[in-house]
Amino acid sequence: MAFSSLGLSAPLLQAIREHKYKEPYPVQEQAIPAIINGKDILGISKTGSGKTAGYVLPILELFQLRSSKGDRHIGALVIVPTRELAIQVNDVFKTFSKHLPQTIKTTAVFGGVSINPQMIAVRHTDVLIATPGRLLDLIDSKAVHISRADILVLDEADKMLNLGFKEEMDKIMAMLPEKRQNILFSATLNNDINDIQLQLLHEPVKIEI
Ligand code: AMP
Repeated sequence: MAFSSLGLSAPLLQAIREHKYKEPYPVQEQAIPAIINGKDILGISKTGSGKTAGYVLPILELFQLRSSKGDRHIGALVIVPTRELAIQVNDVFKTFSKHLPQTIKTTAVFGGVSINPQMIAVRHTDVLIATPGRLLDLIDSKAVHISRADILVLDEADKMLNLGFKEEMDKIMAMLPEKRQNILFSATLNNDINDIQLQLLHEPVKIEI
């Protein structure tokens, strides 16, 4: 299997080559075409599986097809449990978006640092990567609008539950548009994750790697 057979366009394939990825990992082989086709995803995958590029690349592909970029509304929202993961995911977005003909702005926000610079940094962001508490603070202060974020990723969802973010996650979900594509990654499939996936996902493609 080659990256070129997964439905990704030339600017993304060029960035993949430059990043020295030779072949897609199994989670990418399954996730990339499914996400491009608009499917919901239930991914049971650990860190190290390549799950990040598995959702970043197809989201960038979908964004290329969109016209309303750069307005005040976030188009895709990636929710992660920790600051470290937020920064890491943002780096992956930046690595792979560099040759796209239209600029896609991605921003990471997280707690533990001053909110003021983040209120400015999030302006005109197409993709927002956020930890749950800081995202709610930014929404409360009207710096961020998620009412048009029609792609949602929950990454390391089990870790978010373990860290006690369930209430924040529910609040965030309630503010998103009803019609949207949902991507959920978790290292484990326990009862709590199963409840969330039943509530969130519509006929998901299941990937277990
Ligand atoms: P992740 O599970 O997304 O945290 O990725 C784990 C590591 O695998 C990261 O260092 C990625 O850069 C690397 N990686 C992801 N996909 C590939 C690939 N197709 N070929 C080589 N390395 C990859």
